[in-house]
Amino acid sequence: MIIETRNPQETFAVGRRLGEKAQPGQIYTLEGDLGVGKTVFTQGVAAGLGITEAVSSPTFTILQEYESGRLPFYHFDVYRIGDIEEMEEIGYDDYFFGKGICLIEWANLIEEILPQSHISVTIEKDLNQGLDYRKITIQGLEEFDKREGD
Ligand code: ADP
Ligand code: MG
Repeated sequence: MIIETRNPQETFAVGRRLGEKAQPGQIYTLEGDLGVGKTVFTQGVAAGLGITEAVSSPTFTILQEYESGRLPFYHFDVYRIGDIEEMEEIGYDDYFFGKGICLIEWANLIEEILPQSHISVTIEKDLNQGLDYRKITIQGLEEFDKREGD
């Protein structure tokens, strides 16, 4: 599924709808260049889960946990990971195979431990369509209906 947005609020709303519909145990991967809107999208997911804490980029920690929502939310940014052992040290399998929602930025760096059944979200710019245009491609979540839940 492809969703196009033209401002940050629309990208936030896409994330929020996903968060509202998220089911226990789902793993989302989130890809896109710096400044494309990954944090905006993630803040939407958190809002959809009913999380009240402020959500930011977990730049200097691999994992940021939020427990105030409908489901636990585990926000991973594995950009600075040295090797897969660091994931084992934080006990990633408790999160990946638990009852919360995982959202993983730079998941390609941990491909070897990423479960097959995950939902991938890719955000891209297209400067021909203007500075604020974003194309959001969601794969693995066929039941998600973009017309619902605004
Ligand atoms: P990332 O986490 O991918 O590095 P951020 O979410 O921190 O990116 O920043 C995205 C920036 O792009 C914000 O300044 C936001 O206001 C801006 N922006 C402009 N148009 C959009 C859009 N359609 N969707 C999301 N962000 C947008
Ligand atoms: Mg970010």
